[in-house]
Amino acid sequence: MKNIISCMIAGAWALGAFAQNDPATTEQWQPVPPKVTPTAQPGGPPSDAIILFDGKNLDAWQSAEGKPAGWEVKDGIMTVRAKAGNIITKQAFGDCQLHLEWRSPLMEGKEGQARANSGVFLMGMYEVQVLDNFENRTYVNGQAASIYKQYPPLVNACRPPGEWQTYDIFFKAPRFSEKSALIVPAVVTVVHNGVLVQNAVSLWGSSAYIGLPKYQQHAAKLPLQLQDHGDPVSFRNIWIREL
Ligand code: MG
Repeated sequence: MKNIISCMIAGAWALGAFAQNDPATTEQWQPVPPKVTPTAQPGGPPSDAIILFDGKNLDAWQSAEGKPAGWEVKDGIMTVRAKAGNIITKQAFGDCQLHLEWRSPLMEGKEGQARANSGVFLMGMYEVQVLDNFENRTYVNGQAASIYKQYPPLVNACRPPGEWQTYDIFFKAPRFSEKSALIVPAVVTVVHNGVLVQNAVSLWGSSAYIGLPKYQQHAAKLPLQLQDHGDPVSFRNIWIREL
């Protein structure tokens, strides 16, 4: 009913606008978008970003069990410490813009999913894969910048191991009804090293290693997670903007 009324109002408004033939009727002046200062440094955090890692410490992170995050921090970068486990942010996030930089170690002799595997888990359950796929074949919906086991990247924009790579991720969290039904699926866009690789894809559910992904109702905001897959993948310059 509410929708019908708003459609009628919008329709009447549009008719009025055309009838008046006045350009001012289609100008919107409020609310004014808040002012944000971008940084001069490419990939740097704008003024309204929440800094998740600036090279100094893992204060914004913890283990999945709520203990201090056990990854290594050295020379301004954080690196997965095998068996320390996944780390999650202390703060929970829903819709967001996320920037992070990652670097694969050179893992000669390793291939497929065993070559510098990590991952960015939005809301702790929707994985954007991190893997060294510069010259490494694996299933395409499991390669770097795939939405794991759902969407291969549009192109392979990987840099060689040892070089820093960027992910800019734009995420819309799924919406559920009060009765737990999915109303709107999660939507993800990923830019890898400046190249669009996931173009507003609708997720089928949370990332599953075995079987098909499916949705289960969850909170509107949940922690971001980085994966310990046993490989010493490094990260730096991680920031997020809530949308
Ligand atoms: Mg992974």
